[in-house]
Amino acid sequence: MSENIPLAPVTAYVALGANLGDAAQTVRTAMDSIAALPETQVSHRSSLYLTTPVDSDGPDYVNAVIEVLTGLSAPELLEKLQKIEQSAGRKRPYRNAPRTLDLDILLFGSEQIDSPSLTVPHPRMAQRAFVLKPLAEIAPKLVKPAQLRAVRDQAIEKL
Ligand code: ATP
Ligand code: CA
Ligand code: CA
Repeated sequence: MSENIPLAPVTAYVALGANLGDAAQTVRTAMDSIAALPETQVSHRSSLYLTTPVDSDGPDYVNAVIEVLTGLSAPELLEKLQKIEQSAGRKRPYRNAPRTLDLDILLFGSEQIDSPSLTVPHPRMAQRAFVLKPLAEIAPKLVKPAQLRAVRDQAIEKL
């Protein structure tokens, strides 16, 4: 009965990170790939940021955050993001390993999701300058000054 009624698009935020190969180009290409997903528009793109790895090793990271309007469900969006990671050559040899591309769903409308494969809001976003700074750039109301102050010791600069 209701299955053919399109749902209103949801505003979601996706974090992008890369620290192998041409990381800046990988992040820009990933933004374009996300914009090309079905029922999905990229409504804001943050600047690209250069950050020192936190709990990780290898070269500096390129990080960014985008705002998307999507008719996909959160699990559908995650599946598509993982396909984009794989086409960028993502391997998972060990936890926090250097990576060609990492795409995390930070927020998905006001949904709270706690399934084995998906936790939203992203449980570690508040600890990470490389998420909060670019998110604050495109959605200042979503990040409180105290949250930014809490991560001010983490090295991050605009590319
Ligand atoms: P972190 O989650 O601390 O940023 P990570 O991004 O390095 O770590 P991955 O190896 O990329 O971790 O992902 C591990 C799993 O996390 C994925 O297979 C996915 O199912 C799950 N996951 C849970 N919540 C999310 C989310 N909000 N966005 C993306 N993946 C998520
Ligand atoms: Ca991540
Ligand atoms: Ca991830």
